[in-house]
Amino acid sequence: MNRREYLKLAGVAAVAPLALVDSNSAAAAEPAKVETSLKRLNLRHTWTTTMSSSEYRETVQVHYSKEGISGYGEGAPIVRYKEYPEAAQKAIEAIAGQITVGDPFEYRKLLRQIREALGPGQHAAMAAVDIAIFDWVGKKLDVPLYRLLGIDPKDAPITDFSIGIDTPEITRQKTLEAADFPVLKVKVGLKTDEPTIEAVRSVTKKPIRVDANEGWTDKEEAIRKINWLESQGIEYVEQPMPAHMLEETRYVRSKVHLPIYADEACTDASMIPKLVEAYDGINVKLDKSGGILEAIRWIEIARALNLKVMLGCMVSSSCTVTAAAHISPLVDHADLDGNLLVANDPWRGVRVDKGRLILPTGPGLGLTPA
Ligand code: MG
Repeated sequence: MNRREYLKLAGVAAVAPLALVDSNSAAAAEPAKVETSLKRLNLRHTWTTTMSSSEYRETVQVHYSKEGISGYGEGAPIVRYKEYPEAAQKAIEAIAGQITVGDPFEYRKLLRQIREALGPGQHAAMAAVDIAIFDWVGKKLDVPLYRLLGIDPKDAPITDFSIGIDTPEITRQKTLEAADFPVLKVKVGLKTDEPTIEAVRSVTKKPIRVDANEGWTDKEEAIRKINWLESQGIEYVEQPMPAHMLEETRYVRSKVHLPIYADEACTDASMIPKLVEAYDGINVKLDKSGGILEAIRWIEIARALNLKVMLGCMVSSSCTVTAAAHISPLVDHADLDGNLLVANDPWRGVRVDKGRLILPTGPGLGLTPA
């Protein structure tokens, strides 16, 4: 795909080319070009969680080009952390001229410099640039990202499929539509939790995980709900209480059997050690960590602390979800279905066969235009 085709595909309104300033070596002689655009992803179903309800999501697309090779990346800013698409795009454009590392093979140093230049609170923007650079490096070496990172794609876990909050009737219907997936993740955290789970259970016996998205604010309520969920054959619970209620969550965990995973409570590597008393595991997302390199660091920190790890995603195209899928063999549970919720995915990448993640074998992310 040439640049013009890509821009058309990405629905670019305005292109702001920005030459990153290069230094040293012959390999770095030609400056990299970074182009950004916003892409509106339309959802197949209205998506409802405790936090929001929406028909579409906007993501930031990054095209990193150098030496005739294109790397593509994407970031889905998370409103919960006050990140927004336009601001993410502006942040990337604003670092023009500040980057002195010219060789993408020095990606550790390059990405650190970009992270510093973007400043705090730009995790999705950081993810978009990080993914694009890894795609570029893989393409330049002609190896898939998983090989570049020393990962065996056969170890990829099963991904679940998420069911948003809805009426019992539609929940039943969505459960039936997810027949191909051996594991489901159901959004809870409202007054309607019991009817929701009963609706799912009325049509399937398969393993279910739930995500309360900080919805239970009373610890006794959380204990009651989790113990009831255990009776319904639920596997684990994600973020039962608000992120800041660490002490309450620790108390809840001491009173229940189901494992508890931190999502909203885990937004920085430095927070992971503090979660050990209150949680059994963490949910890593590229849009929270700011890309692949930092996500791997989170996974390794969690492992060192005997925490379990799940790998999640936001509503994104196959670009981000494929990037995450390449590191999924490093985690216990995958929740990588954000692209499957999108009606106008511009890319083809990771495939899912009965929940099994099948990584593309092409160089870099291995994406092809849809
Ligand atoms: Mg979550």
